[in-house]
Amino acid sequence: MRRMGLMLILFMVAGTQLLRAEEGMWIPLLIEKYQIGPMKEAGLRLDAEDIYSINQACLKDAVAIFGSGCTGEMISGDGLILTNHHCGEGMIQWHSSVEHDYLTDGFWAMSREEELPNEGLTVTFLRQMEDVTDAVNQGLVQGMDPDDRQRRINLNRGELIREATEGTHYDAEVKPFYYGNAYYLFVYEKFRDVRLVGAPPVSIGSFGGDTDNWMWPRHSADFSLFRVYAGEENKPAGYSPDNQPYQPGKHLEISAAGIEEGDFTMVLGFPASTTMYLHPEAIRAMVETSLPLKIALRSARLEVMERYMETSDVVRIQYAHKQSRVSNAWKKWQGVILGLKRNHIFDKKVADEAAFLEWMNEDGERQMKYDHLPEDFAQLYREKEQSAVAVDLMSEAINPLELFGEVNRVLGMMQLGRSSEEIENQVAQFFKDFHMPVDRDIFAAMMQAYHDHMPEALYPPFFTRVEKRDRGDFSSYAETLYRKAVFGEREGARKLLETYKRSPEKALKRLRKDPALICLNQFKELYYREIYHGVINVQEKEAKLYKTYMAGLLEMSGERPLYADANRTMRLTYGKVKGYRPMDGVEYRATTSLSGLLEKYKKGNVDYAVPEKLVELYENRDYGRYGVNGTMPVCFIATNHTSGGNSGSPVLDAEGRLVGLNFDREWEGTMSDVFYDPNLCRNIAVDIRYVLFIIDKYAGAGYLLDEMEIIF
Ligand code: GLU
Repeated sequence: MRRMGLMLILFMVAGTQLLRAEEGMWIPLLIEKYQIGPMKEAGLRLDAEDIYSINQACLKDAVAIFGSGCTGEMISGDGLILTNHHCGEGMIQWHSSVEHDYLTDGFWAMSREEELPNEGLTVTFLRQMEDVTDAVNQGLVQGMDPDDRQRRINLNRGELIREATEGTHYDAEVKPFYYGNAYYLFVYEKFRDVRLVGAPPVSIGSFGGDTDNWMWPRHSADFSLFRVYAGEENKPAGYSPDNQPYQPGKHLEISAAGIEEGDFTMVLGFPASTTMYLHPEAIRAMVETSLPLKIALRSARLEVMERYMETSDVVRIQYAHKQSRVSNAWKKWQGVILGLKRNHIFDKKVADEAAFLEWMNEDGERQMKYDHLPEDFAQLYREKEQSAVAVDLMSEAINPLELFGEVNRVLGMMQLGRSSEEIENQVAQFFKDFHMPVDRDIFAAMMQAYHDHMPEALYPPFFTRVEKRDRGDFSSYAETLYRKAVFGEREGARKLLETYKRSPEKALKRLRKDPALICLNQFKELYYREIYHGVINVQEKEAKLYKTYMAGLLEMSGERPLYADANRTMRLTYGKVKGYRPMDGVEYRATTSLSGLLEKYKKGNVDYAVPEKLVELYENRDYGRYGVNGTMPVCFIATNHTSGGNSGSPVLDAEGRLVGLNFDREWEGTMSDVFYDPNLCRNIAVDIRYVLFIIDKYAGAGYLLDEMEIIF
């Protein structure tokens, strides 16, 4: 019996997080120490210094944070940067109007003069990283008061940042890894003049739309092109017509030789966030409560947006980017639930925990450090249940309301005494993409959801008014609110700004009486009074518990490194081009081609619209140098462990040449932010040959290829 028990545990542990081999998002600085051996065995033909080095130009110098959430890579010595269409979409949309609809028609600057500047867009290069764990922990002593401890850590972090940036134009940050068991310093150089060079139409760049998003097989050329400009001495500068294209230390060579099933690939980029070491109870809460609620809230928001977008081109353009941002996570979360349930991840996490406890019980010292964990975790998740719904409603129902956002923003600006031009500019930007009825109807739906999910004790006072005067009908209340709110329409905002010019005091007084601000403040007050402290308390406990649990997992893993969760710092992941079996009896191949795209074409279905020019190129098999044996490769999948933030990351071959552009993951594997299964999890990339084909053959912007180094 005892032996059977042990066998069972061993069986369960196999295939759980602690023993899986292929996954991982590796810290570039540590490749030399831990990863270079396995990577070479897997096929890499470079040295660690070719990937990350501070002594020589290397791949890290060609890869940057694009905007605040994506990755991009330099593909020419003249500042040309490639990223996803969905990363450039905000800018493409911003430059679009009904007359110049770059979403529908695409945009191509036919000379450098035609490139479009983008206020606020940045491209940020990592210049250096360093393990600073000891320096951050300096001065910490056993039994220190937690607040003093945190203060000390913050001081140390601040000092490290100061030392790293003083007298330079660099930025720096110190980030915790492994739940604060390690710290790294990152030094960055941020470029602020980034111009739009080219983008295919949505029908090519996001072919398949919401239907295909997070799915395989895929047929989109999810790319856009920008150019980074620098001021004097190749250094960052704000926009100026005198700026020159930035000359990067390294730009990527492009391989148009193609990929095949089984080929080595790696991805370098800035994955945003993963939680690979979650306790089983966290998985349960995610699957049963949090994700279903967030999905329902987004379904309601999407329903409203899409209803209005269908009826007007103006609204379609205004809300295109907003809609795709909302629907993106909405769809992914559904895949995550499916993956976690179908693959019994809760049970696997229970097995992980059992393995940990088994290891802990082998040794008295370990028990002293870790045996409080099971009870404390159970207690934590009981407490968390109460605040979690409120937190989700705040982030998914209240914060996204555009009217609330704007009134709050303008209030902040006025309180800071910002100039009327600055505020006017802000307000103009807001109204450019604001269609009041959309936000009004979303408001009504979100308030109803809040009403249905929260206990009465946590209703804001204005709910009583809705109950009495509007007979509980939030739509009727919304009607009045948006009619009376200053930012419900341009005229109200214009009057307020007029007042501000004459008397900031009076404008502030007027704004404080704004019904939207009053509603928002009621929520804020409620949260600070009733919810905030509980949330902070739970977060602090959670941080402490995970830090201890993680320390235990690291101790248990010994010499074999565990990788740290993604935290928007540069990571490398490697794998191979490989198909998968999504379900019993079905096998997916690793590549797609243009004929598959045409097969998907359906008249009247906007997700599968195909521009005529592309049909023509297909019918004539006019693929230039990019096709192979009469077919045009389009997308491929590989086993690289990627996440959000890896959008726009380069997929590189064994020589470090660009073979694809990462843009997504597939349905059965979207759970990989929580649990990576090498049989199911794949990243999706556009084949670089398809990108080149679209630029050259479709867009006729082949001149851009002259500045790239393409190896056929
Ligand atoms: N397509 C993904 C997104 O939009 C990015 C890449 C990923 O998460 O795998 O968030």
